[in-house]
Amino acid sequence: QFDIAIVGAGHAGAQAAIALRGQGYEGRIGLIGDEPDLPYERPPLSKEYLAGEKPFERMLLRKESFWEERDIRLLPSTRIERVDARTHELFDAEGESIRYGKLIWAGGGEPRRMPCGSDAGLSGVHAIRTHADVQLLRKELAAADRIVVVGGGYIGLEAAAVLTRLGKHVTVVEAATRLLSRVCGAPISDFYERLHRAAGVEFRLNTMTDCLEGEDHHVRGVRLSCGESLPADLVIIGIGIVPSIEPLTAAGIDTANGVRVDAQCRTSDPDIFAIGDCALHVNAWADSAEIRLESVQNANDMAKVAAQVITGTPAHYDALPWFWSNQYDVKLQTAGLSMGYDDHVLRGSPDEGSFSMAYLKAGRIVALDAVNRPADFVQAQKLIRARASPSLAALADIEMPLKTLIP
Ligand code: FAD
Repeated sequence: QFDIAIVGAGHAGAQAAIALRGQGYEGRIGLIGDEPDLPYERPPLSKEYLAGEKPFERMLLRKESFWEERDIRLLPSTRIERVDARTHELFDAEGESIRYGKLIWAGGGEPRRMPCGSDAGLSGVHAIRTHADVQLLRKELAAADRIVVVGGGYIGLEAAAVLTRLGKHVTVVEAATRLLSRVCGAPISDFYERLHRAAGVEFRLNTMTDCLEGEDHHVRGVRLSCGESLPADLVIIGIGIVPSIEPLTAAGIDTANGVRVDAQCRTSDPDIFAIGDCALHVNAWADSAEIRLESVQNANDMAKVAAQVITGTPAHYDALPWFWSNQYDVKLQTAGLSMGYDDHVLRGSPDEGSFSMAYLKAGRIVALDAVNRPADFVQAQKLIRARASPSLAALADIEMPLKTLIP
């Protein structure tokens, strides 16, 4: 029995528990998660941890003693299968009931599977979402030479960078005509394609996968819809996530492509909150479109809002989104959301390996991608928050720090 039960012990869930105690909340907090580990940070899974450069212990969000000292009860390896919103009960896989006063749902998402369903039952097919996923992947890497990555988004490309550096032959298959197409403009996509090609990565763009090919229950290749078969010792699927929300949907909570929440992170049930990757919210920085954000920033900021609201401090979620991605020695940092932009301008040249791209909508700067230009990233956040409308010429002038454009 918990006054506040948090389901999902990832970034959002852990931060919610931390923030509740930070707010002085003294009730019983349960942090329930289906993974066996202490809460840990996910970004290194496709970066330093995959590369073997960061031990798992250094990815823990807090040491074990932190949770004990704050009397935050961790329930690892516990999957919540059912929620009864009327009786305020959660049920785990064994049917055991856990009562709650308020519920914070922070279930994140499950990796999307190959549409053809042929990934089931073959070894050597991996997602990169959890510690367990990457432990298994690392174990199988030693015997693998040819790796096919399905999906040219952040995670697929980060993995491609690490694996190429480890001496593997990597081919990335992407359905869109360019990489990172959902999140970046064409000049950024082209820059990353060149970067990866120079490192030895091969690409099949504008190409759909048909199915996986196996032999003796192990994957041996990926068949493309154009008829080509790519041989593979390992396949990594990085084609996004599906939000983990089924128990809430079944409990009658308003859900769509995520759990619908208001600016207080409250769902259609006043005693149930949802935060992080699974929370579908109206975002002030996306022209009030209903979106889900998959970022550490969003998980942390939503967790703080929910904790404040539950402890009686007025709060609402309107944080400016930001993201990052590390590939090779190149750091991409994004401020804001570029969706629906109608103009763009480059600061500096991609050939220099350090440049930014600003996105504008109706004359206003709405987002900026900074490639190895951390100062632009920091200053662009202020510019976007100020809802500034700088001229394209001023934005392009690399001699002029962006902060001088803040009105
Ligand atoms: P998660 O961290 O996924 O946590 C959800 C937890 O809930 C999981 O442990 C899940 O197993 C558990 N769960 C789900 N359903 C149940 C249930 N029914 N019962 C019990 N437990 C359940 N973001 C960035 O900003 N920058 C990056 O560079 C970056 N890199 C990333 C690299 C990788 C490989 C991945 C996978 C993600 C990366 N992200 C990055 C995204 C970031 O990690 C997520 O946005 C963040 O983890 C979201 O936090 P969350 O708590 O909402 O979900």
